[in-house]
Amino acid sequence: MDKYKKQRARMLERQIRARGVSDERVLKVMEEIPRHFFVDEALLDQAYNDNPLPIGERQTISQPYIVALMTEALELTGSEKVLEIGTGSGYQTAVLSRLADRVISVERISSLAEKARKILERLKCFNVLIAVSDGSFGWKDEAPYDAIIVTAGAPDIPRTYIEQLARGGRLVIPVGGAHEQKLVRVVRGTLPDDLEYEDLGGCRFVNLIGEYGWKG
Ligand code: SAH
Repeated sequence: MDKYKKQRARMLERQIRARGVSDERVLKVMEEIPRHFFVDEALLDQAYNDNPLPIGERQTISQPYIVALMTEALELTGSEKVLEIGTGSGYQTAVLSRLADRVISVERISSLAEKARKILERLKCFNVLIAVSDGSFGWKDEAPYDAIIVTAGAPDIPRTYIEQLARGGRLVIPVGGAHEQKLVRVVRGTLPDDLEYEDLGGCRFVNLIGEYGWKG
């Protein structure tokens, strides 16, 4: 067993299963995807640690447990079209790519998008489209989405995401202050105004900067 494989197995056990994530599809994919591909060379030995890490441009790759928790909350079965806002390193994108039919990921910083594209290509994640844009608008061209995941914190839930969520769809987004947020899951029912809100706990994300987020 190679070194990283061992670290991944340990990450799964101690950080993710131990905290209650039980969706076997999510666990399997996170056991397979080489998270160390997505961090800088200088941080390789920390790639499987229980915390976020810097990825340049003052942004971070999310803590593995948060990736698992948010992904599980999307309840993916393999047939979904997913919208992700905040590609960052592309790690969460890779996880989604293996669990859904298609992933559209929007990132506002082009250098990060470019880097992520290359790694995702190397991992043969061919069902992913990465767009450089203000993702607080969502991505109207491909709406509605069965699942929407936002990996940057917003002061409120942008109405664009609710508008672009399919009936029966799930949205997961950090909402609250600039430094601390609540992870909120919104489930859209079959009637147009039927929205259910659920608090998944506290979290800390970088800011969603844009028209419907924080003003940069
Ligand atoms: N899931 C990513 C998290 C990256 S951090 C990972 O684990 O690597 C959040 C990302 O959201 C940053 O890359 C930041 O540039 C991006 N972001 C912030 N506001 C945005 C917006 N309005 N549209 C698109 N991306 C945005």
